[in-house]
Amino acid sequence: MRALVWFRGDLRVRDNPALHEACSAATRGVVGVFVACPRQWHDAHEWGMPKADFVLRSVAALSEELKGREIALRVVVEDWFEGVPGALLSVAREHECDAVYFNNEYELNERRRDEAVEGVFEDEGLGVRRFHDLAVYPPGSVRTGEGRVYTVFSPFKRACKARWKDGDQPETLPIARAQNEMVGRADPVPTGADLGVFDAEAPGVRADLWKAGEAHAGSRLRAFVEGRLREYRDRRDAFALNGTSTLSPYLAAGVVSVRQCLHAALDANQGRVDSGEKGAVTWIDELLWRDFYKHLTAAMPRLSRGENMKAEYDRVAWRDAEGDLAAWREARTGYPIVDAAMRQLHQTGWMHNRLRMVVAMFLTKHLLIHWRRGEEHFCRTLVDLDYASNNGGWQWSASTGADAAPYFRIMNPISQSRRYDPEGRFLRKFLPELSTLDDTDLHAPWESARAPEAYPGPIVDHAAARARALGAFKAD
Ligand SMILES: Cc1cc2nc3c(=O)[nH]c(=O)nc-3n(C[C@H](O)[C@H](O)[C@H](O)COP(=O)(O)OP(=O)(O)OC[C@H]3O[C@@H](n4cnc5c(N)ncnc54)[C@H](O)[C@@H]3O)c2cc1C
Repeated sequence: MRALVWFRGDLRVRDNPALHEACSAATRGVVGVFVACPRQWHDAHEWGMPKADFVLRSVAALSEELKGREIALRVVVEDWFEGVPGALLSVAREHECDAVYFNNEYELNERRRDEAVEGVFEDEGLGVRRFHDLAVYPPGSVRTGEGRVYTVFSPFKRACKARWKDGDQPETLPIARAQNEMVGRADPVPTGADLGVFDAEAPGVRADLWKAGEAHAGSRLRAFVEGRLREYRDRRDAFALNGTSTLSPYLAAGVVSVRQCLHAALDANQGRVDSGEKGAVTWIDELLWRDFYKHLTAAMPRLSRGENMKAEYDRVAWRDAEGDLAAWREARTGYPIVDAAMRQLHQTGWMHNRLRMVVAMFLTKHLLIHWRRGEEHFCRTLVDLDYASNNGGWQWSASTGADAAPYFRIMNPISQSRRYDPEGRFLRKFLPELSTLDDTDLHAPWESARAPEAYPGPIVDHAAARARALGAFKAD
């Protein structure tokens, strides 16, 4: 048997169920394949260069890992998902493969693409083997007593942990078995610029910050677990500190698996999933937020269509305010925490979680602009873009999604700033034009007589904007 392994959001050779199974079952070698879909990524899925560049560099690193296991990675470019089934079939025919192996994905377009691939392979009399990989437990398998999917995080988390404690503990798989002889030859991997549709000058493309490859992801995970994990609960919200793992680009592209992260945290916590070191337990909870959004995306196709998770908020009359949207995007709102966060995003391709919540609530509540507009900007600029987490985070912040709290949760940007960056270290780093202000004035410069002229005044008044948002969300 010769296997074709199709890589997508699982760009690694360790703990990769489809690759592992293919390498164990194959008797005549394994061929790998990756299909780059520039139009689908750019036009339909709104990826920007930071994400495309990171994925392609990760594919190049994967190709090297595979070579070391006598597996050639073929790389095909097909503009749209519609072209993927035919492209895969022709690679399978060229190398006389007997079956295609891949790990499931859960967004709507991805599911349709995968069904089409399954169809053409079966029509051709070839095997199709699909595996679960992307979450700890397969989406659809964690349900309430009444058989419904969880739409609130805390009970979902408790159900996952109960299952773990009952002994259902998915292990990590070892590195895929090396093959005896390479079949075919590896293709060169294009860069983001080679694909033609991505902006080669885009900011936030930082190969220095986001080194590609499993070895690098593994050392990032180890360094975090052996160091910052212990204090994670206390430091994770302090956005001036490097208190989190910064593993999100690697998890989003599948360079590291959630099981590898979970087991690393459990090893540091004597195997306990909900007791012991508070840092480890809190980090496990955050990993489960990622799973939660994957489970929701799998269960609710409307989330892939850009619709509100809670239909009752279809009534909200969002503002059509291009000027305000541009000010938010271009870090000109006059609220230092919002503007510094947007600069972090544009300069590094990444933003701290607390800041993502602050800027998302600012756009959707203070400016009353549809969450879809913010979601799109994040898609274009994030290196760690993950559809389910991004959509989930935006809808949570806009109160149209899975937040258990009602719509009147509206973060005050000034108190968030004072609470989580009291000395203004983060603000001074990204807004050097404010660095002469003292720690008190820095968070709300308009209150100071020494506010620099170069920095804009606040685009909205917090109290007035809050009242406007409450009015817009309230039922008639
Ligand atoms: C508006 C908004 C948009 C977001 N967009 C994305 C996105 O496109 N891609 C993405 O990976 N995350 C997204 N998040 C979630 C979160 O902000 C990032 O995962 C986190 O900041 C990544 O940093 P880290 O790796 O240091 O996280 P850590 O704190 O070290 O957490 C470890 C991992 O757990 C997962 N995780 C942590 N918090 C969350 C969360 N709230 N929701 C889902 N997963 C979580 C991530 O995979 C993360 O890498 C978004 C959040 C919001 C509010």
